[in-house]
Amino acid sequence: MNIQLWRPAALDEAFSLLEQFAPDVCAASGSTLLQLQWDKGILPKTHLISLEAIEEMKGITADDTHVSIGALTTLNECRKNSLIKRALACLCDAVSAVAAPGIRSRATIGGNIASKIGDLIPLLLVLDAELIVYQKELVRLPLAEWISSEAYPHGIVTRVIIPRPEGDRVFFRKLGRRQAFTGAVAVTAGRLLKDSDIRLAAGHADIRPKRLIESEGKWMEPEWEAHELYETLIKELPFSADAFVSAAYRKKAAANVIMSELLIEGGG
Ligand SMILES: Cc1cc2nc3c(=O)[nH]c(=O)nc-3n(C[C@H](O)[C@H](O)[C@H](O)COP(=O)(O)OP(=O)(O)OC[C@H]3O[C@@H](n4cnc5c(N)ncnc54)[C@H](O)[C@@H]3O)c2cc1C
Repeated sequence: MNIQLWRPAALDEAFSLLEQFAPDVCAASGSTLLQLQWDKGILPKTHLISLEAIEEMKGITADDTHVSIGALTTLNECRKNSLIKRALACLCDAVSAVAAPGIRSRATIGGNIASKIGDLIPLLLVLDAELIVYQKELVRLPLAEWISSEAYPHGIVTRVIIPRPEGDRVFFRKLGRRQAFTGAVAVTAGRLLKDSDIRLAAGHADIRPKRLIESEGKWMEPEWEAHELYETLIKELPFSADAFVSAAYRKKAAANVIMSELLIEGGG
């Protein structure tokens, strides 16, 4: 099959191409997830719109309250950048658990998010991340909305805006069968805010990650037993089976990790 590669330098041009060639088209950043999909024969699109030349999608800035990361920032850049290290150490750690070093030098944070299944999404959900998405104009929306909505079919993720979690305790745990080159059994993330509010989220390679709202509600109740929170997690974790792991195994593994992180805080 002949693939036609386009390399627009502006967002409006990229968006017009995505609209013009739909549905036989897709955007490409580092193309590492696309490569996996091509290998499996999943994505034979004729038009590929490379976003790599779009300047607005590059660069990292920070102020007192937020960090803004261009969607084209590679995962290796995220890991090494001094602003991110200072303001979002949890993101540096999480990035190290994605793919393997060679892949991370091409893979972008925007591609991880835009795929709606990337391993970084649970962490970004608990951090209350927002996205700047281009769809005829720039719109700012919560990451959770991007994940669950079909309202942005050709939307281009241009930046991710992350509030600095100063003083909050944040955890991110990816459980896999091997250290690298492995799909996650489960990815969990949590954030215990200074005012004792909480965020929890989970996912794995084949599903859209989500916030665990019921479990968060259980944690916020004035009195609860550890087994009640555990059962709420098991009920709410959105996991499915694949050829290697049952849904029940994934749920147990993830619930155990979350409970161990929360009980460090002396809950229950
Ligand atoms: C060997 C291997 C192991 C991997 N392991 C992991 C892993 O452990 N965890 C994990 O999460 N991922 C893994 N991946 C997938 C991938 O490397 C990451 O998810 C990566 O961050 C995707 O970024 P990318 O720039 O390569 O995205 P691309 O492949 O370019 O794009 C991914 C998807 O997002 C769309 N897209 C890309 N950028 C944008 C944008 N800015 N706006 C809108 N749509 C966009 C594309 O159309 C495509 O559907 C692995 C890949 C390989 C090859």
